[in-house]
Amino acid sequence: MVSHTIGYPERMPTATENPPKRNTTASSELVAGPAPFESWGRYPTYGAKILPLHWQGDFPAITTGIHDSALPVGMGRSYGDVCLLKDGNLLLTTGMNRLIAFDAETGLLTAEAGITLAQMLDFAVPRGFFLPVSPGTKYVTLGGAIANDIHGKNHHSAGTFGRHITEFELVRSDGSRLLCSPTENSEFYAATIGGLGLTGLINWATLRLKPIVSRMIDYESIQFHGIDEFLDLTDQSKDIEYTVSWIDCASTGKNFARGIFMQGDHSMRRDDLKLSPKPKLVFPFDAPGFALNHTTVSLFNAAFFHKQIHKRVVSLLDYEPFFYPLDKILHWNRMYGTRGLLQFQYVIPWDNAKEGTIAILHEVAKSGLASFLAVLKAFGDVPSPGMMSFPKPGITLALDFPIKPDKSFPLFGRLADMTREFGGRLYPAKDAAMTAPQFQSFYPQWEQFAHYRDPMLTSSFWERVTGDKPGI
Ligand SMILES: Cc1cc2nc3c(=O)[nH]c(=O)nc-3n(C[C@H](O)[C@H](O)[C@H](O)COP(=O)(O)OP(=O)(O)OC[C@H]3O[C@@H](n4cnc5c(N)ncnc54)[C@H](O)[C@@H]3O)c2cc1C
Repeated sequence: MVSHTIGYPERMPTATENPPKRNTTASSELVAGPAPFESWGRYPTYGAKILPLHWQGDFPAITTGIHDSALPVGMGRSYGDVCLLKDGNLLLTTGMNRLIAFDAETGLLTAEAGITLAQMLDFAVPRGFFLPVSPGTKYVTLGGAIANDIHGKNHHSAGTFGRHITEFELVRSDGSRLLCSPTENSEFYAATIGGLGLTGLINWATLRLKPIVSRMIDYESIQFHGIDEFLDLTDQSKDIEYTVSWIDCASTGKNFARGIFMQGDHSMRRDDLKLSPKPKLVFPFDAPGFALNHTTVSLFNAAFFHKQIHKRVVSLLDYEPFFYPLDKILHWNRMYGTRGLLQFQYVIPWDNAKEGTIAILHEVAKSGLASFLAVLKAFGDVPSPGMMSFPKPGITLALDFPIKPDKSFPLFGRLADMTREFGGRLYPAKDAAMTAPQFQSFYPQWEQFAHYRDPMLTSSFWERVTGDKPGI
């Protein structure tokens, strides 16, 4: 296995100093995975030509003579088809992962867009800095994090990832380069954050890191029973930076909507800011399709809930298990077998958030399809900078399901319709199933967004939800 630790030279390399080789650190092993390029859900699977980028000038030159359309991609950690392009060209950015500049006074870090959050953390943590927003895995690229305008456990206080991007360079297929910030080319800044890779290639970006003095998190986990208790805990934790909940969505009756509320702040006690250990465990094979079923998931959920004997547990936890518990086992998506998994993530605004969440949880329990990973969180009201960003104030719930074609897709159709009735929307980064009418009602601004699309770039997602074919 190739080490995931990036070897940082004494000083920051510039793009022209590094030899033009494919990245041989984390990204090639952890990331691109076996050919063909797959998304994390391993559904759908499409053939595409992979064009690896190494230099900031590679695009659009690399597409000369190519008549099919293209799509920039990172680590393929999106679950569905936002990072896929059937029979097209995938501009693989993970070889473009150099650090460009860092200012320890301001915390501003500039890096090429193919760098992963894992690589940025390896650089930043020993220097006393942390990411302003972290998703549930650190194996995503800077460009991917911007293009999906990702959110984390601190959405209620920090908003989305894009809010912390001060500027980036966008390269269009006509060769033009736009410096984008809230004040310069601001319309492309807004269209590209959450813009699903369709407005151009993000070459590099500047991100504002936050200072820390310890790797540790002052952590508390609290059992809850039902959505009212979840909402009370959410209310009580407004001043805590990170909150997220695991919810048991297989149980009914008195155990309906029980869960564990997890909250934490960066510890203020000075501590050794050492590098993270390298991941050692790899999920070794594709599990058989029957391994995750209602019975095994219900047993897991009961065990997970009761693992915490006391209602409240307070501890000091390293940031790795707090932010990235799933990263401990590489390729854990193989647990779902070769058919893959579907993720369903909605946000429902506060007016209907409680009612909608209860109705959707009942629908899931009724379906007999149990979700192994169910994550519940309240989004705050910090506005998202992206025209197409997913988060808005309300409750968000993310559910993973193994694909059982006769059951999963009809369930997803019902859940998406319910989300629409409750005034919510689904997250494209997690989606492989929403229909064009559903997408267009979730994101009525999609036609306005389409004006900023690069004519060469498209994705299987975009074609699916708009019917829009590339204009080249
Ligand atoms: C275990 C797990 C946990 C997760 N937890 C969260 C979470 O808590 N919150 C959350 O918001 N998301 C979460 N995600 C989703 C993930 O953060 C996003 O899908 C992220 O965008 C993936 O980044 P990537 O580098 O893998 O990009 P890819 O999946 O390869 O691509 C994502 C999008 O970015 C575009 N893109 C990539 N690079 C560029 C570039 N240089 N220029 C322009 N466009 C580009 C692609 O075209 C595509 O549309 C999670 C995913 C996993 C597997």
